[in-house]
Amino acid sequence: MRTPVIAGNWKMNNCVQESIKFIKTALPMIEGILGVEIILCPPFTALHAINKMVFNTSLKLGAQNMYFETKGAYTGEISPVMLRELCDYVILGHSERRLYFQETDELINKKILSAFEVKLIPIFCVGERLIENESGQTQNVIYKQLTAGLKNVTPSSNIIIAYEPVWAIGTGKAATAIEANETIRLIRETLIQLWGSLVAKQVRILYGGSITPVNIAELLRQPELDGGLVGGASLKARDFTDIVSLAYKIKHAR
Ligand code: PEP
Repeated sequence: MRTPVIAGNWKMNNCVQESIKFIKTALPMIEGILGVEIILCPPFTALHAINKMVFNTSLKLGAQNMYFETKGAYTGEISPVMLRELCDYVILGHSERRLYFQETDELINKKILSAFEVKLIPIFCVGERLIENESGQTQNVIYKQLTAGLKNVTPSSNIIIAYEPVWAIGTGKAATAIEANETIRLIRETLIQLWGSLVAKQVRILYGGSITPVNIAELLRQPELDGGLVGGASLKARDFTDIVSLAYKIKHAR
């Protein structure tokens, strides 16, 4: 069985003190939960303070982005080596990065390759826009994002894929459990084509897009979903920890 994952993406929210307060509240509620990989991705500025608080707990940290070079004259950027001191995961290819910061599949591929170099685990996001969904392009779009993003990447189960339909992010309109399950099944088929079934069947594939404590159960009851990437609901300690508890109950009830 693949260990389920619940990852929180705080996006550009929470200063250092707010982040500390969140961890103080959330940690006691999830500390006893083993069997779910729990990841929180705060802004860069909070990583250092939180890193000390979660040391030796079941709460792991990730960053929301990085540059692909290790060091040099890249004003304003953060390198994989710098992140490796503070966290274990990094979100790459998020649709907000693709949309607002013009990140291309080629750039995302460079970032994924360089994350692997320092053993940062990429949480690689793929997903179609509304217009692509409505015109029946979902499968093509995701195939292109996956094959381009994973170009020259050595097959590895140390990557997490997040299927995040763009139209479901921050809109309150999650994909139906059946839709999410079907697209994730197609993602795994593509991974099998690329990497062979032994590795592909070990890769965790998450759903992301308007997850809440109310809809998570039905989503996670689907066999293809290995967990969730949670945006808005990860900002409230109670909602985030409820989602983690539900993930444990559902995935370990089988
Ligand atoms: C996200 O940002 O990855 C996300 C899924 O956001 P939300 O849960 O708010 O839709």
